[in-house]
Amino acid sequence: MSDNNIYYCQHCGIPFSVPDDWKKEYAGCQTCGGSSKVNDLKRAEKDTKGQWVVSKEKIIPEGKIKFEVKMRKGNNDALEKAIFIDDELLDWSVDVSSLVEAMKMGPKFYKSVQRDIEKHFTESVSEVVGRKVDAEEIKKATIMGWI
Ligand SMILES: [Zn+2]
Repeated sequence: MSDNNIYYCQHCGIPFSVPDDWKKEYAGCQTCGGSSKVNDLKRAEKDTKGQWVVSKEKIIPEGKIKFEVKMRKGNNDALEKAIFIDDELLDWSVDVSSLVEAMKMGPKFYKSVQRDIEKHFTESVSEVVGRKVDAEEIKKATIMGWI
């Protein structure tokens, strides 16, 4: 990857490369598949360690809302993942004790508890978003920054 043709994807903010001899008006991002207008692209930047930095500027398509996964301090000062939808914290947490109980009961129970958690999670997200979303869509949203 040559350093002088790396731009920020307008959808996910992750740097992607546009070939030097690219003649089309739009270029597709290798991470999210979204198309960005080449003339509007901003050059990607590296941090002091030479790693590509992900852009904070993302374009949220019409009809979609912001979806962010941030680390924050939870109980006992432990870092935990928190999900923010449209800047609102998603009130959702995993019931760890029931997972531990299920683990004791064997892999079959563990799997079914995990499935329940995933179902509960997608239902919580769906409720906030205002339409039915599935796990696959949520996974994509964590990359894209919107849902
Ligand atoms: Zn992208």
